[in-house]
Amino acid sequence: MVRAIVGANWGDEGKGKITDMLGEKSDIIVRFQGGSNAGHTIINDYGKFALHLLPSGVFYQHTTCIIGNGVALNIPYLQKEIDEIVSKGVPKPHILVSDRAQILMPYHIDFDAYEEERLGGKSFGSTKSGIAPFYSDKYAKIGFQVSELFDDDILKEKVYRVAEMKNVMLEHMYHKPLIDPEELLKTLHEYRDIVEPYVADTSLFISNALKEGKTVLLEGQLGSLKDPDFGIYPMVTSSSTLAAYGAIGAGIPPYEIKDIITVVKAYSSAVGAGEFVSEIFGDEADELRRRGGDGGEFGATTGRPRRMGWFDAVASRYGCRMQGATEVALTVLDVLGYLDEIPVCVGYEIDGEVTRDFPVTAKLAKAKPVYKVLPGWKEEIRGITEYDKLPENCRKYIEFIEKELEVPITMVSNGPGRHEIIYR
Ligand code: GDP
Repeated sequence: MVRAIVGANWGDEGKGKITDMLGEKSDIIVRFQGGSNAGHTIINDYGKFALHLLPSGVFYQHTTCIIGNGVALNIPYLQKEIDEIVSKGVPKPHILVSDRAQILMPYHIDFDAYEEERLGGKSFGSTKSGIAPFYSDKYAKIGFQVSELFDDDILKEKVYRVAEMKNVMLEHMYHKPLIDPEELLKTLHEYRDIVEPYVADTSLFISNALKEGKTVLLEGQLGSLKDPDFGIYPMVTSSSTLAAYGAIGAGIPPYEIKDIITVVKAYSSAVGAGEFVSEIFGDEADELRRRGGDGGEFGATTGRPRRMGWFDAVASRYGCRMQGATEVALTVLDVLGYLDEIPVCVGYEIDGEVTRDFPVTAKLAKAKPVYKVLPGWKEEIRGITEYDKLPENCRKYIEFIEKELEVPITMVSNGPGRHEIIYR
């Protein structure tokens, strides 16, 4: 049985917590897209962790954590993240890396920074982790697959070929230091030695596990609105954030994905530039940011303050639809307990007309939020474990959102901790 845990919004919905929680009863946890560009914050019995590349299942000894073929694999980062959790007392996790995953090269990080620098004020707000250059190269067919590390002839020929091409750009477009192919080859040999113990045909591994009735979790990064096809293009990420892509990025048949838990945040937040209709500013935003998440809404990778906004039913319903949500986990609801009234964006006004359907980016730029204001509950709801014990206005807020999303909310998260969850 395969279950996906994905985000309906701009990311940072709390997928890490839900994955960590459901990891307890899973056998395999797979990252299927993205790289170390975004992070999950996880608080459990070992402490507080910010994971960027490792699947959120690494805290359990009974799970196998897989970096799927769809991931941008930053090998030194993988090493660093494993060392970090082990040094904090977590037993060494069981990790497998797909032999078909491609390698995030040192020059991808450089090109990412050079391009942002070149674009200046028109930049995409990249995290400069090399993700866009990585996926560009993958689809331009000049990427390096993990398997290629183990064939020195192929590797050497390709390193020279690719360096020649990259150096034209470095010299004439960016005016930056050139790539020395021998140096790069040496780095790749180091990468090979680091990754070798983990490399496997992970698609086959999962396929065999499914035959044995094992439970697999696909862990998404970012959310629907950052998907290159269905998100706020071009302010999106470079690999698909949708559960459907989980089939490709993990190497499993699409029909195996039976359950798509879509994580929806009780208010909105976004990192980086891009359209954000229900965004709020000033003191109102500062207060929500300060109280939000666990210790404030600041990016797990970059530390950047997140942009804040009210719950956006238009974007979230669309986000759930594009994920194919079978159920919703509504998170960080506890944060809203300070508000007398809570606005919810239920429509977009575009050129004088109100729509409930999420439009293309050009129209989104013109959209103004239409709000419905719900009464707050003015109570601390952390510690509550049963749905019926939640304040009435809190239940009404959840039920209103559920109706808007058109997907059942089966879990309500009322705190960052592993066990702070209310099942409905
Ligand atoms: P992810 O990328 O979707 O995993 O999300 P992040 O980890 O970047 O952001 C979620 C943040 O909210 C983290 O700091 C979590 O510890 C925190 N968090 C998750 N669920 C809850 C919740 O129900 N309540 C509160 N207060 N914080 C939560």
